Amino acid sequence: MEQKGDRSGPFDLYLRLHALLDILRHVPEAARHELGGLLVGQIGYDEQGPFMLVERALPAPQAPSSRVSVTFTPEVWEGLWVAKERECPEARIVGWYHTHPALGVFLSEQDRFIHRHFFTEAFHLALVFDPATFVWGVFRWEDGNLALAPGVFVYVEAGGSPPDMDQALREMDPAWIILLRPEE
Ligand SMILES: [Zn+2]
Repeated sequence: MEQKGDRSGPFDLYLRLHALLDILRHVPEAARHELGGLLVGQIGYDEQGPFMLVERALPAPQAPSSRVSVTFTPEVWEGLWVAKERECPEARIVGWYHTHPALGVFLSEQDRFIHRHFFTEAFHLALVFDPATFVWGVFRWEDGNLALAPGVFVYVEAGGSPPDMDQALREMDPAWIILLRPEE
């Protein structure tokens, strides 16, 4: 287990590798339009304090999108809710993700609008991924601002497939992730 974790911020943030793979399967490297979906998981407390574990990402393939935006219509929400109840009924909605092809990682005015209107819990995350440069970032509320989290712990289950892992973590900024890997 590698330990160089940054535990600043309102809660420790863990991403299950599976959630990153869900996003990579949804987002072709060459995708030129934005793509998005939901993040689901759990929040809780352990001996370190409050934490969030993002367990899965559920794509919204029908979401209307352009090169610079993605839209969550009522029909998109309906489809996402059905998928969540079918695939992870025990999990909570913990935020959303979308891509910025070749645009970099930030939140636009429209992204902030979506976040404020549809992701209203104080713990809700906005994950942004640029498939052209393989840069990831997670934004969350901190002192009234949607701030970029300094890093996440990527949780890799024992028996997780190494090729998948290598693909998911390929060019990820090493400052951003801390791998938690159970002893084999
Ligand atoms: Zn955006």
